[in-house]
Amino acid sequence: MVSYNCLTCAVCRKDYPLEAGIFSCPGNSPGEEHILRRTLPLGSEVVARIRKFWATGSTLTFDLFSPLLSGCTLIGYDRYRRMLDGMTERLLGMEGRDFDVTPMTEEPGLESALGRSGRLWVKNETGNVTGSHKGRHLMGTLLYLEALRALKGKVAKKVLAIYSCGNAALGASAVARAGGYELHAFVPEDVDPAVAAMLAERGTVVEKTPRSSTGEGDPCYLAFQKALTENGWVPFACAGNDNWSNIEGGSTLGWEMVMQLLDRSERVDGVVIQVGGGALARSVAQALEEALQLGFISALPRIHVCQPEGGFPFVRAYLLALAEIARRSGHSFDLSYDRSADPLVQLQKTAAFARARSDQIREVAAFVQRSFDSPLVLSVLNHVAGTAGRFMWPWDGAAPHSLAHGILDDVTYDWYYLLGAVLRSGGSAEILAEGTIHDAYEMAQSRTGIPVCPTAASGLAGLIQLQASGTITPREAVGLLFTGFDRTKTR
Ligand SMILES: [Zn+2]
Repeated sequence: MVSYNCLTCAVCRKDYPLEAGIFSCPGNSPGEEHILRRTLPLGSEVVARIRKFWATGSTLTFDLFSPLLSGCTLIGYDRYRRMLDGMTERLLGMEGRDFDVTPMTEEPGLESALGRSGRLWVKNETGNVTGSHKGRHLMGTLLYLEALRALKGKVAKKVLAIYSCGNAALGASAVARAGGYELHAFVPEDVDPAVAAMLAERGTVVEKTPRSSTGEGDPCYLAFQKALTENGWVPFACAGNDNWSNIEGGSTLGWEMVMQLLDRSERVDGVVIQVGGGALARSVAQALEEALQLGFISALPRIHVCQPEGGFPFVRAYLLALAEIARRSGHSFDLSYDRSADPLVQLQKTAAFARARSDQIREVAAFVQRSFDSPLVLSVLNHVAGTAGRFMWPWDGAAPHSLAHGILDDVTYDWYYLLGAVLRSGGSAEILAEGTIHDAYEMAQSRTGIPVCPTAASGLAGLIQLQASGTITPREAVGLLFTGFDRTKTR
């Protein structure tokens, strides 16, 4: 049965109404993947409304895609629009900008540097609220929270909490302040002082948390979890495991790309997305999958993702899932991962396998794409959800380091639906050499003039490597997301 307009859990196979105001699955159990996903509102009317709003030339992103947003579904368009207008006015007053459609440009300088004949599109989020895409994720949550309050007769505003090493907390602080909410941000003790100052300036309570050894998970995340349990605070995090609603906020980024490409009668064959906690990639993948489902696009672009060699829990999970599918389908796949052995050695072996056996990886990935809806693949995906701890666990390699430090999350929290999207679309998951990350950062700034930070330019590093290995051809049209402003350049 297809359900509309509700929250659904992949493991419980149960639907929850939007009105319930829950942010994570009540049936959650350790080692299983109980991630809530918002199902689409019913089709044709949504399609007509998005097309109509877009045709007006409006740039107010949370208005344009309101037919997809749960806050609007809950209280109806007129009340939602008044709420959004109030929030927009406060954001403009406090931050000097609101959530407008961000630029997407073709970048001929990068195309020629990479020897491409296919177009290269860059979505530029560096000028968004607080300089990254993170705010839009949490704007989705704020609008949902406010719609719930409106339904319940203006009950008191709850205290919000986030864990982050920078941009997510900043985005959250701007959005929480515009909404008049108290926010606590759990950040590493070595947080960039400029970021800490910007947080304090916005009235956010900065909770510095010391780093522990690897393998135990992010201490900021653990402190955040404790605060939710002990104080009843609301997860205002940029990750879908604790807060599904930030994903629909983030998906406006993918929707903007879809509509901006349609405006130009263009399409992309693939996107390459940098992955840390995974909310960005999952959001964009969800937008592309929904755009396909609603008939805005005729084929799903290949969704490629990449992580630094300093920390790649998603790529590990992707390879382990492929290994399971290969085992059940009789394909060769020379990866064996022993959880009882030294994790450093296992991770080295995994990275070496990814480098040496791209032929095997590509063959199994192509098989999965061809037979995504087959009982075999679906049963593996169900198995993965039910035994999630065997595929995704906190980073247990050496302490993670990378120039792209914003994507060194211990866990890719939004890995499960992302894995499905990468597999369904025939995409790949790439481990980035540190040198490529440096090259991509320099190339991104010098060839586009966009003040993008190394983390946000690392999708370009993915493209460089995927093109070098022949996974992406120079003829394919590709989309990249420059998601964060380079603050180091302004000091
Ligand atoms: Zn569940």
